[in-house]
Amino acid sequence: MHRLVKDVHDYPEPGVVFKDITPLLADHDGFHASILALADAGRDASGEVVVDKVLGMEARGFILGAPVALNLETGFVPVRKAGKLPRALLAQAYSLEYGEATLEMHADAVSPGDRVLLVDDVLATGGTMAATCRLVEAAGGVVVGAAVLMELGSLSGRDSLGDVPCTSLAVI
Ligand code: IMP
Repeated sequence: MHRLVKDVHDYPEPGVVFKDITPLLADHDGFHASILALADAGRDASGEVVVDKVLGMEARGFILGAPVALNLETGFVPVRKAGKLPRALLAQAYSLEYGEATLEMHADAVSPGDRVLLVDDVLATGGTMAATCRLVEAAGGVVVGAAVLMELGSLSGRDSLGDVPCTSLAVI
């Protein structure tokens, strides 16, 4: 995977090293293997699917989360940046590695008791994942796991997820 993820220095602002996953997405074998590995986070040791919904965060979480949901034969829920969803929603402010924002989800997208898997490309500070956990909890759902392509280990983002197990295909 490493050769298919490109470091982009000083993007989107000076001092940030952005992990560009578009070469991975453009490579069928790499993309396919990544989706299968992420989907494993939604199964138990015997291979049984243990989630009811997959949530993906805008925007790269959509690209990864939707095929993971299809693989697990569950529905997919987009978690969007503020102002994009047309119906009644839940909102949660969060901090990014660079900047601040709000995440939103349709209020009826997760039902009480739903078991949810969160999917995104990169876990950095964990602010995005943690905010999404709050959205799921507000809807009455249960986050049973998180899955990312890459985890920036130095930022200890998984600490903000509490007891939620986080699968990362690479720690960098
Ligand atoms: P966090 O909230 O600090 O954990 O940042 C994770 C979010 O920021 C994810 O939604 C990522 O898509 C995005 N992100 C942070 N750093 C990078 C990066 O280096 N490459 C791609 N996305 C990143």
